[in-house]
Amino acid sequence: MKTKPISTPYDWLDRGLASIHKANWYRSTQTIASKAGTIANVDGREMLMFASNNYLGLAGDRRLIDAAINATEKYGTGSTGSRLVTGHLALHEELETAIADLKNTESALVFSSGYLANLGAISAIVGQRDLVLGDEYNHSCLKKGAVMSGTTALNYLHLNLADLTAKLQQHRANYRRCLITTDSVFSMDGDLTPLREIMDLATEYDCMVLVDEAHGTGVFGDRGGGLTNALGIQQDLIQVGTLSKALGSLGGYVAGSAKLIDYLRNRAATWIYTTGLSPADTGAAIAAIKIVKTEGDRRQQLWQNLELVKQGLQDLGIEAIAYDSPIIAINVGDIAETIQMANHLRDRGIFAPAIRPPTVPTARIRITLMATHTAEQIQKLLQCFS
Ligand SMILES: *Cc1c(COP(=O)(O)O)cnc(C)c1O
Repeated sequence: MKTKPISTPYDWLDRGLASIHKANWYRSTQTIASKAGTIANVDGREMLMFASNNYLGLAGDRRLIDAAINATEKYGTGSTGSRLVTGHLALHEELETAIADLKNTESALVFSSGYLANLGAISAIVGQRDLVLGDEYNHSCLKKGAVMSGTTALNYLHLNLADLTAKLQQHRANYRRCLITTDSVFSMDGDLTPLREIMDLATEYDCMVLVDEAHGTGVFGDRGGGLTNALGIQQDLIQVGTLSKALGSLGGYVAGSAKLIDYLRNRAATWIYTTGLSPADTGAAIAAIKIVKTEGDRRQQLWQNLELVKQGLQDLGIEAIAYDSPIIAINVGDIAETIQMANHLRDRGIFAPAIRPPTVPTARIRITLMATHTAEQIQKLLQCFS
């Protein structure tokens, strides 16, 4: 006996999923069952990890693990409230002081993630009468932050100063405040923003600048302060970043002038109305920053590994978008071919995924390097490419 299916308000989900499948945009998770490091157990199989953001290998470092345990022993598992009520721990203050020191800024503020730091900062500092000009390849949270703030948000062509200048000339005068936003290291391409030139344009056109150092912190600069520090930029700007990549923990931050941070504590909704970072994450991040500042040989090893991979791929005649950071994007172009290549790597025990539209405009294999990759592991990667 057949009964007519009852329709529900959620039926559209079937159609939604079907159209995702149809566009070849469907994605799903792979399960990792091992400690963060260069070797991972992925869906039950041992693989060489060339896809994580754990650039310095700190996420599995004993010292971070101990710091997380010690912080939990002292403070408990949760911070129990929002920072302005019961969730502001001495540990948060210690972390914010350490970040400000790392970044060479007056002050810093810790958020629950890098994503929330950008949403909170952008929506607090610009509004409907303002303009945001962002690199077209900026991370999702920079774009969503602009949408959330209700500003006029325009993209300029990737790394293109001429286009940015033209847009400033055309639009700047029609708005109250203007904010230029950019990743320092572009997460899917691995290339770098021309930050000095952007700072000069910002001065000329009276704009604020927000730079997202998610992939730059710990990787660039003598003490790991990021690309801004490596370039010796002294002007006032807004530095955002994450504790979850090179720093091996979880959380995000904004670093800048004391005035800026004071303002954000009063206006950034994603900081005010959410629970303070957990003691474990906070403790681990403090330990990571100490290591990042003092163990320059880790960074050196990372850059040496990059040089090895660059030489190897160039010898094979394989071209990458850039070798400016530990993110190496190999443009294959055709989606099917890229997936085939990623499968080939996977079958040989290499975890280096295909990244494809809609995440990026062109399909590619994305490799990320770690300071803790051994020469043998890198040779294995190169063999698979040959
Ligand atoms: C990863 C990333 C973020 C988000 O940081 P989370 O702490 O993971 O939320 C923000 N911006 C960029 C450029 C990133 O790559």
